[in-house]
Amino acid sequence: MKSFIAPIIALSLLSAETNAHASEQVRINRAGSQPSISGAETNFTGSVRVDGLFKGEAPARISGGTVTFEPGARTAWHTHPLGQTLIVTAGVGYVQQESGERQEIRSGDVVWIPPHVRHWHGATASSGMTHIAVSEAEDGTTVTWAEKVSDTVYSGARP
Ligand code: MN
Repeated sequence: MKSFIAPIIALSLLSAETNAHASEQVRINRAGSQPSISGAETNFTGSVRVDGLFKGEAPARISGGTVTFEPGARTAWHTHPLGQTLIVTAGVGYVQQESGERQEIRSGDVVWIPPHVRHWHGATASSGMTHIAVSEAEDGTTVTWAEKVSDTVYSGARP
């Protein structure tokens, strides 16, 4: 008898847990509901378009956006307090961390930038590149910007 009751109690507990969130609603951020913005001149070189995609509600701290770089365009040097994931969705580009080689990235590649690692990313000189950038905020901040990437470094010199 006892062996039949225990699973039933466990099942009803599971059901109560599920119902606690029944009033939460699935939400759809409709395409085009947020205007595209230009990458700030102080933080980017060249023509860059940023399209915000999502921002988690606390206690979640994840957010993401699509960044489109025209040929030759790139970020300034920067770091992310909790790291960053880049999902390349179109074109060919570069990512480079300080004291590392410039690496080519292309559509389908997924890049992980560890926390506090100085780096930049952008398009190649001849091809545009688009990536979805996903990061988590620490104390409300997802990025700390530094100086722009020189043409020498962009062209492949080791920083
Ligand atoms: Mn980054």
